[in-house]
Amino acid sequence: MMETGWNLENSYATLPETFFTKQLPTPVSSPELRVFNHSLAASLGLKEDRAAVFAGNEIPKGADPLAQAYGGHQFGHFNMLGDGRAILLGEQVTPTDERVDIQLKGPGRTPYSRGGDGRAGLGPMLREYIISEGMYGLGIPTTRSLAVVTTGEPIYRQTKQEGAILTRVAASHLRVGTFQYASKFASVEELRALADYAIERHYPEGKSASNPYVFLLKEVIKRQAALIAKWQLVGFIHGVMNTDNMTISGETIDYGPCAFMDTYHPATVFSSIDTQGRYAYGNQPPIAGWNLARFAESLLPLLHDNQEESLKLAQDTIAEFPKLYYSHWLKGMRKKLGIFNEEEKDKALIEDLHNIMEKHRADFTNTFRGLTLDKEDHSPLCKATEFTQWKVRWQERLSRQTESKDSSYQLMRESNPAIIPRNHRVEEALSAAEQGDYSVMERLLEVLSNPYEYSDEQAKYATLPEPSDRPYRTFCGT
Ligand code: AMP
Ligand code: MG
Repeated sequence: MMETGWNLENSYATLPETFFTKQLPTPVSSPELRVFNHSLAASLGLKEDRAAVFAGNEIPKGADPLAQAYGGHQFGHFNMLGDGRAILLGEQVTPTDERVDIQLKGPGRTPYSRGGDGRAGLGPMLREYIISEGMYGLGIPTTRSLAVVTTGEPIYRQTKQEGAILTRVAASHLRVGTFQYASKFASVEELRALADYAIERHYPEGKSASNPYVFLLKEVIKRQAALIAKWQLVGFIHGVMNTDNMTISGETIDYGPCAFMDTYHPATVFSSIDTQGRYAYGNQPPIAGWNLARFAESLLPLLHDNQEESLKLAQDTIAEFPKLYYSHWLKGMRKKLGIFNEEEKDKALIEDLHNIMEKHRADFTNTFRGLTLDKEDHSPLCKATEFTQWKVRWQERLSRQTESKDSSYQLMRESNPAIIPRNHRVEEALSAAEQGDYSVMERLLEVLSNPYEYSDEQAKYATLPEPSDRPYRTFCGT
């Protein structure tokens, strides 16, 4: 028999039954492997690349498939949700002893499907593949994409689409919404079992902490503060920061209507359903704080035996989030500008740059790329006197540190991507793939795998779309 490398365990299934339902994928008629992540497979110890497995037609050895229960605030309103179109096959224990979830997205109906068909379309699954792998290349914690198979069965949304299944790899699929579900629908003992599981899996140092649940809350807040700062620093807009789309592990999850900002503006929104701009670029940090407050609320019964004490602990801990976020962001912005040490006036220098970018409708990525390469282009920004004056101030700032200019530019190269998954490039790759040509996508994935390389080929990917391509709109694709 061929050695496939599966080494699956099912620790999630040891949780109380309220947290999941055992569920097999629904077989599909003619699965075909379209994209496969060989380097990820190798790091997982997998030699498996059969379409039947990634389509859910064949269950790998050791898998005990299940759908997870969770809830979540969607655009501020709480709903019971759960894996309506996802099935966890199990947890792969890798050759380096890491434990990661292997989940099929789009494998058919589950008890949490509500009115949905449990299926996914090829376009949105390829999009998740490109953007999640792009985020990984950028060094941003994220779920990964292992494979996309087409099912041979159409799905019906606004239009008829080709059905597909994405295999997602994640540190876990525990979400803020999993804890909300526990706090609303389960007993305190079940909630405790979930929290203990999260600590064991993601924050094992917490087991010996004086208060493991306060420790858990603090650590999730820390990881999310670092994560959201990373998003802001590359202009990533998640698009649907509902509490079910925020992980306990600190990984970015659920690539639906997300997109990278081109023209800098804090109010930038791409998602067609986000009509109020709740999840606009500039709102992501406060929304993350709001989501984490929902997490803290869910943990209240565990934080302390006394209700008032519990509330105070939650409030004091959650109050740290904006400060933590801002310090990560400021540190990151200093790096993007080649600044090694700290001066109080840096905040004003950074803020002024943002205001100038906004005023002149500058491209976010290319502004930092231009500074890194010390190159000017024909953009309105580069022609603006205030930008020239700002650059003089910035150069003076660089002169006031002991590090050489060369090391500043080196730091900038490491901190400012030469390429991001630009919307028109992603669309171009998806259209070609939908016509059966995957080479455009493969090429894009290749350049996105090392965005700090500053290669000649990447320069081609830095060009902006024709103005007529705007405004860009994204759709959930559910
Ligand atoms: P998402 O927008 O992907 O975060 O999904 C929100 C909720 O809707 C989750 O509970 C999903 O499982 C569910 N959902 C999304 N698409 C489908 C579908 N096609 N069939 C069943 N459930 C779905
Ligand atoms: Mg979701």
